[in-house]
Amino acid sequence: MELPDGLTFGEEEVLISAIEHYSYCPRQCALIHVEQTFDDNVFTIRGHLAHERVHAEDDAVSHGVRVLRAVPLWSERLRLRGTADLIELRPDGPYPVEYKVGRRQADHPDLQLCAQALCLEEMLGVAVREGAVFYHAERRRHEVLFDDTLRERTMSIVARIREILVAQRLPPAPNDARCRRCSLIKVCLPHVVAEPARLRGLKGALFQPWEPRAGDMGGWS
Ligand code: SF4
Repeated sequence: MELPDGLTFGEEEVLISAIEHYSYCPRQCALIHVEQTFDDNVFTIRGHLAHERVHAEDDAVSHGVRVLRAVPLWSERLRLRGTADLIELRPDGPYPVEYKVGRRQADHPDLQLCAQALCLEEMLGVAVREGAVFYHAERRRHEVLFDDTLRERTMSIVARIREILVAQRLPPAPNDARCRRCSLIKVCLPHVVAEPARLRGLKGALFQPWEPRAGDMGGWS
């Protein structure tokens, strides 16, 4: 499948988890995957715990279907690497399932799941047509069809993440409703960096030499 907009894949490896980060906010993706910054909030801690629970269970056979957990995934062609929470080995092909703690808010996890499907197709040489995202707060699965549109969006995001990794740059901060749920808000400072005039003022103050006044030095002068 060709990439849209004439994008090409390079050599830089992209983590599958970066796809959801980029889809949520490109700056968040760059803070984590370029600057290696990570900070937890209640949402990320719940997420880590949920993934640990899923990964800790043993592989098993459920309703006649073999279930694999914490499966390493990669694609040489797309230079992708990551881990699938769970894969059901159904008679009509592998069926990846991604676990999320909250409720469904947007389709960011679908893109991450689609990347898992692209890896599985390359690794196993079989078609992977659908999978599911399990939302713990809703106690239900959301089925995801890996159609051409979703595949193209996923590959386009992989190419854009690679551009960020190669350029080693932070995209601008959108400073919108997404920031309230973002665990990186304290390091990102979106309300500061999104306002160039305020940022210039703070930078100026930061490098202003300190001029001691009478009495500032106490008994040390
Ligand atoms: S705080 Fe806002 S702008 Fe910054 S990384 Fe998070 S979502 Fe993106």
